[in-house]
Amino acid sequence: MKYPEVQNYINGQFVSCNNKRMDVDSPLTGAVISTVPLSAYNDVDEAVKSAKAAFPAWSGMTSKMRSQILYTYRMIVEQNVEILASIIHDENGKTMDEAIAEVRKSIELTEFACSVPQIAVGEVLEVSVGVECRTEYAPLGVVACINPFNFPHMVPHWTLPNAIAMGNCMVLKPSELTPVSSMKMAEMFKQAGLPDGVLNIVNGAKEVVEAICDHPDIKAVSFVGSTPVAQLVYRRAASNLKRCLALGGAKNHLIVLPDANLDLSASDIAASMCGSAGQRCMAASVMIAVGNVNPIIDKLCLEVSKYIPGTKMPPIISRKSRENLIRYIDEAEAKGAKLLVDGRKFSSDEHADPNGYYLGPTIIDWRETVTGMPDSEVFGPVFEIIQAGSVEEALSIQHKSPFGNAASAFTQNGAIAKMVAQNASAGMIGINIGVPVPREPFSFGGWNASKFGAGDITGKSSLGFWSQLKKVTSKWAKQEITDWMS
Ligand code: NAD
Repeated sequence: MKYPEVQNYINGQFVSCNNKRMDVDSPLTGAVISTVPLSAYNDVDEAVKSAKAAFPAWSGMTSKMRSQILYTYRMIVEQNVEILASIIHDENGKTMDEAIAEVRKSIELTEFACSVPQIAVGEVLEVSVGVECRTEYAPLGVVACINPFNFPHMVPHWTLPNAIAMGNCMVLKPSELTPVSSMKMAEMFKQAGLPDGVLNIVNGAKEVVEAICDHPDIKAVSFVGSTPVAQLVYRRAASNLKRCLALGGAKNHLIVLPDANLDLSASDIAASMCGSAGQRCMAASVMIAVGNVNPIIDKLCLEVSKYIPGTKMPPIISRKSRENLIRYIDEAEAKGAKLLVDGRKFSSDEHADPNGYYLGPTIIDWRETVTGMPDSEVFGPVFEIIQAGSVEEALSIQHKSPFGNAASAFTQNGAIAKMVAQNASAGMIGINIGVPVPREPFSFGGWNASKFGAGDITGKSSLGFWSQLKKVTSKWAKQEITDWMS
């Protein structure tokens, strides 16, 4: 095996657990590169005990002291970009360039957390003569985050740096499909001087998630993954009276008009649908063609042909996910949809291992079918085209989607772009942008079935999630002049 066995990380130590193990295969080759333990309730309990023991000292530090450790961590990540990226490349399959971008994004997220002492500052006001009221952000205690496979390093950085900067101690669960890079993350935090117990990692699958939702000493849970699991987690954590923010799946609509810039639109949409083999919750999923946009569609078909499986186009995460995608394409074809580009028949370059889980880019045209496009998420390099007669109709189609992560307009008409931005039912809007991810300090989060819970998962919005406000009202002397509260 290329990597050592994945272990849990509890109280600053890698610990072996006696539970069953699962193979971790690399989607690049299908070969087993490590194994991961399928931990149980008692492993989560150990992690919680360690986090609970670390909490008084960690929360007792000033946020400026905590942010110093994050600065050091950021520097260590910077020194390890290539090493981390190559682990991500192996475990997730994404290209080295994509993996490097993922690590760079985690650096940006850490930088935001370093600025917590400048942002999470309380307010003070003399509310009555001689009476002062001030607010302060208090941490919650032990918190947890549950992560998906598609950004094994970045998504944990949506939550971990901000949560610990605010004074909490964390139990983190990686995806069992991509658990290797989190061992490197733990090592780097240790090297940065993070006190033992502030970060704990428990590996595994459903049982770990359920234990996190049920454990009475975990105060808040963040989740990122598919909508059905987000719903389960949100319901279970909330029924145990925990704070929960659960981000789910997506099917992102692009409203494309005939006046859109031909070259820019085609290359941007191709990059959005093919990047990370379409396994991004912000990937372009559906074009709603308003009027005749056939020149853009023709150009898009040419652009996607550049994403040859291998160096440019990574594999799908697992054999099973690849089979599900092929089944979706087969069913679309059986329903009469036209395959403008058929990723089932692809030729790869010399860098693609024949045992890798590759699939070529696929464009499904539903415009002449009776049944219409299903509204389910398709997490892969599959782009679908439907038709609308007007922007109003396009918006009403977008509103019928159960999801609401991203929506974009491709047009040169500012008024139409503004209309889409104002009226689309989605949390993140792109204007001539295929992947409208808001960068720091803006916050990340969708609407509808793409997110359950209040607030967003990154940026300023997340600071409220990882803390509670304490209000201190004080009076120190008897006042000469008083009012009703003095
Ligand atoms: P997933 O829902 O299968 O798994 C996510 C996590 O939940 C993993 O840690 C997994 O171990 C756990 N899990 C899986 N099934 C479970 C169950 N039945 N009960 C309890 N826990 C369970 O998601 P994934 O396949 O790892 O990731 C891809 C999905 O994540 C896509 O749907 C994608 O859209 C979504 N995603 C969303 C965002 C966002 O910001 N909204 C970001 C990234 C990924």
